[in-house]
Amino acid sequence: MINIAVDGPSGSGKSSLAKTISKTLGILYLDTGALYRAIGYTVLQRFSEQFTEDQVCSLLPSLTVDLRYEDSVQHVYVNGEDVSPFIRTQPVAMAASKVSAYPRVREFLLALQRNIAAKNDVIMDGRDVGTVILPNADVKIYLNATPEIRAARRVGELAEKGISADFDTVLAEVLQRDHNDMNRPIAPLKQADDAVLLDNSHLDAEGTVAAALEIIRSKVSL
Ligand code: C5P
Repeated sequence: MINIAVDGPSGSGKSSLAKTISKTLGILYLDTGALYRAIGYTVLQRFSEQFTEDQVCSLLPSLTVDLRYEDSVQHVYVNGEDVSPFIRTQPVAMAASKVSAYPRVREFLLALQRNIAAKNDVIMDGRDVGTVILPNADVKIYLNATPEIRAARRVGELAEKGISADFDTVLAEVLQRDHNDMNRPIAPLKQADDAVLLDNSHLDAEGTVAAALEIIRSKVSL
């Protein structure tokens, strides 16, 4: 199986890139962030925003998380319920970032991710795909852009949905998530030694896809 890992901070455009590549190359796309968001969402449903690691760990044994592809779109199910429509909010993103620092949560989601990669040609995006989940991935891309550019993109996305957002607030959230993701002791966000850095601060979506395809085609034939 051919496995492509795309890691990088939030707002770098990993999911748009991985989605387009998956269509172009006819391979599966696995959005690993959605798994952490599904846990974050479930935790917010059960506890207050001030939840503790012990509370989350005590919840895990009662959870079954699985992925289903419906019309090639990934859906995440928790205990048989499709939570995908509820996980794209800022509170869920913050909860995901918090729960993703808990070792038991990462362990809980590890086998699911590796099993999919073992059975499918896949492009998988996340924070630790190239470093921890698939250390032997055929291609590893580390996608990055400056925090200011990532925050501006987020403000633009929200504006498209008719939501006005304050740039400084969004930037502070981007920096907070970067800090959480890069400084946790377990599976922190970092570029794998053998990953290729793709800085798309000054590239549009098309340019990013073209650059990524060049990297992929230099390593595997697909
Ligand atoms: O990529 P996305 O913003 O959906 O991820 C939500 C959160 O899940 C991230 O802020 C990060 O903390 C966590 N995450 C992770 N490891 C991954 C994917 C996401 O820790 N492989």
